[in-house]
Amino acid sequence: MASKTYTRMETGLYERDRAGVQDFVLLENYQSEDAFIDNLKKRFQENLIYTYIGQVLISVNPYKQLPIYSDEHIKEYRNKHLYEMPPHVFAVTDNAFRSLIEESRAQCVLISGESGSGKTEASKKVLQYIAACSGHQTTVEGVKDRLLKSNPVLEAFGNAKTNRNDNSSRFGKYMDIQFDYTGAPIGGNILNYLLEKSRVVGQNAGERNFHIFYQLLAGADDKLLQELNLQRNLNNYRYLSDGGKGTVASIDDVESFRIVQQALGVIDFSPEEQREIFSIIGSILHLGNVSFNEVDGNAEVAKRDLVVTVSRLLGVNATELNAALTHRTIDARGDVVTSPLNHDLAVYARDALAKAVYDRLFSWLVQRLNISLQAKDTRGARNKVMGILDIYGFEIFSKNNFEQFCINFCNEKLQQLFIELTLKSEQDEYRREGIEWIPVEYFDNKVICNLIEEKHKGIISILDEECLRPGDPTDLTFLEKLTHKLATHHHYICHEKAPTQVQKIMGRDEFRLVHYAGEVTYSVNGFLDKNNDLLFRDLKETLSKAGNSIVRTCFPEQELRSKKRPETAVTQFKASLNNLMDILMCKEPSYIRCIKPNDLQTPGVFKDELVLHQVKYLGLMENLRVRRAGFAYRRTYDLFLHRYKCLSKSTWPNYKGSGGSREGVKLLVKDLGYGPEDYRLGTTKLFIRWPRTLFDTEDAYQA
Ligand code: ATP
Ligand code: MG
Repeated sequence: MASKTYTRMETGLYERDRAGVQDFVLLENYQSEDAFIDNLKKRFQENLIYTYIGQVLISVNPYKQLPIYSDEHIKEYRNKHLYEMPPHVFAVTDNAFRSLIEESRAQCVLISGESGSGKTEASKKVLQYIAACSGHQTTVEGVKDRLLKSNPVLEAFGNAKTNRNDNSSRFGKYMDIQFDYTGAPIGGNILNYLLEKSRVVGQNAGERNFHIFYQLLAGADDKLLQELNLQRNLNNYRYLSDGGKGTVASIDDVESFRIVQQALGVIDFSPEEQREIFSIIGSILHLGNVSFNEVDGNAEVAKRDLVVTVSRLLGVNATELNAALTHRTIDARGDVVTSPLNHDLAVYARDALAKAVYDRLFSWLVQRLNISLQAKDTRGARNKVMGILDIYGFEIFSKNNFEQFCINFCNEKLQQLFIELTLKSEQDEYRREGIEWIPVEYFDNKVICNLIEEKHKGIISILDEECLRPGDPTDLTFLEKLTHKLATHHHYICHEKAPTQVQKIMGRDEFRLVHYAGEVTYSVNGFLDKNNDLLFRDLKETLSKAGNSIVRTCFPEQELRSKKRPETAVTQFKASLNNLMDILMCKEPSYIRCIKPNDLQTPGVFKDELVLHQVKYLGLMENLRVRRAGFAYRRTYDLFLHRYKCLSKSTWPNYKGSGGSREGVKLLVKDLGYGPEDYRLGTTKLFIRWPRTLFDTEDAYQA
C-alpha cells in the first residue's frame, strides 16, 4: 500500500491520542460507567483534557495552564474537520464557525457543567478562537477588542470567590456575536440571567462579595478613594466582612482593577460614567455600615453621617433617604399611609436597597456594553450569528434554596432543548438520507418542566399565587399548597409520602424533586421573600430622583406610577428563560460539557466519585447510548472516498468505475471488512455505525 506517502492528517483519520479513546463512541464497554470514568481519567493523567461523544465535547478542568491554546494551535485547527485533529474546544468552535460562514447556519455553543468545571474559561477560548481567525480590518479589530474587553468588566461585577471557585460567575450569560458575510465580527449582544444579588449583603465563610468591591479598595488611587470617602481596610465594611479574609492568593485585585478601568475605557465608558459607577459601589459599602437603634419600636438611623455620605454618592436628599430607610408608605387603593419601621424591617429595607441598587447597576452595565457592541450595519448578517451560553450547571447541595430551584429549572429547560435539537435533528438526518432507523428510547424531561412551569398547576404558579394571596402567606403555607396539589405527581416528593430512607434526610420544611439529573431536596425557607423581591416604595421614589444618572435610569419613575404589581422573581426568570429557548431553538448547537476533577482546585487530582456524579447529571451515559445507537460517523461520499481511497486497491490511486463516488465508497467499505449491519448508504452520505474498523485499518496501515 502507498501508505508512507500520506500522513494521517491528510487521510483524515482520527489522530490517535496517547491514552484511551478520544471519542467515547469507540469505547467497547460503552454501557459501563467505570469504563467511561476510566477513559476520562487515563486521558486526564496525560493532560488530554478533551474527549468527544460524537460531536459533544467533554472538557475536564486541568487546573493548570496547558500549552494548547497558542496561535499555532489556532492555525492547526483552522479549517480542519472535527476528527482530523485531537479533540479541542478550538475544533468545536472551528466546526461551528465554518457552518456559520459557509452554510449561513446560525450557531450556538452551549457550555454546561458545575461551578468550577471550566465553563467561563471555555467560553473565553471560543471567543479567542473566533477573534483570531476572523477578519483583520481595523473596524473589525475595534469590535473584537470590545467583545474581548467586555469579559473583565462582567467578571469584576458578576463574579466572586466562592468555596468552589475563586472566580465563580454568579450570573448566567448568553452572548451573541454577529458576523458580516465575510465572517468578520461586526457586533455583539449580551443577555444576563439572575445575578446572585444576596451576595452583596452577606457571604458564607470563606467566600467574598463581588470582585469589584475589593478591586476598588485595593486598586483605586488615593484621590478616588477620598472622593468616595473610602478606606482601604476591608474590615471597615460590614458587607465585606462575613466571609472572613478578603484577600485571595490567586487573585490580584490591584491588577484586576487596572484591567477593568482600561477595559471600561476601550468600551467607551466616559469618565463621568465611570465615576458614577464607582460612586454606586462606594455607596453600597457605606450603606452596609448603616445601623439602626430602636426607640419605642421605631427604627432610627444610628450614624446619620453615613446616610449623608450615601446620599452624596447617589445624589439623593439625605433627609429623604433617612426617612425612606426607616418608614414605609403603603398606597392601598388611594389611601396613602406612612408608618415607621421597626429595627428588623429597617435592616431588611437597607439590605433590599443595597441588593436592588447593585442588581440594577449590573443590568445597566450589560445594557451599556450592548450599546457599544451594537453592530453598525447588519445588512446581510441575519443568519450570521453565533451565540455562546455560559450558564450555571445543575446544583445539588446539602441545602438547596430558591436559587438552586431556579438554576435547576434552567437546566431542565436546557435538557429539553438538547432533546429537541440533538435527538430530533439526528432523526431528521436519517429521514432525509432515507435510512431506516429505530428511534432510541430516552427520558423526555418535559414532564418535569411542566411540573415546574405549567400555567395554574405548576410549582411556579403555586408560588406566585401564594405570594399574591392576601392574608398571611408563609413559606410553610406555600409548601402545604404544593403538597396538596402535587402529592401524586411522580416527580414531586413530599415529606409525608417519602420512602423511609428519604424521609430521614428530609426536613418538614422541604420538598423534593426528581430531576432528570437526580433527586434534589429544596428547603422552602425564603421562597416567598425572594420571589416577592420587595423594595419599599419610599426607597424607589428617593432613587428615582437621584442625581447619579445611572441610579436614576435604573429606578425609573414610571415604575412607581404603574398600578401593576411587578412580576415576581421566578416569573421574570421563567420569561427570560423561555426567551432564551426561542433564541437557541433556531440555531445549530454545539455542546461543551465541563467536568471538575476535584474539589480542591488543584492540578493532577482526579476523584472518581466526584466525576461519576457529574457524568450522571450531565446525562453523558445516555448521550453516549443515543449516539451509539445511531451512526457515529457520517461523511459525504466524495469526502470519504477522497480521504480513504488509499486503503483499498479498488479505489487507489483513483476509483475508475462508473457510478461515481457512491459506488466507489461501496467497494471501499466492503474491502475494509464492514458487515451489512455496520454501515448504511444514504442519499448523499455514508453512515458508519462504529468507525472502529477504520482504526484497525489504521494500525495495519501503520505497520
Ligand atoms: P462557575 O460556574 O463557578 O462560574 P466555571 O465553570 O465558569 O465556574 P471557570 O471559572 O471557567 O469555572 O474555571 C475555574 C478555574 O479553573 C479557572 O479560574 C482556572 O483557574 C481553571 N480552569 C478552567 N478551565 C481551564 C483550562 N482549560 N485550562 C486551565 N485552567 C482552567
Ligand atoms: Mg463561570
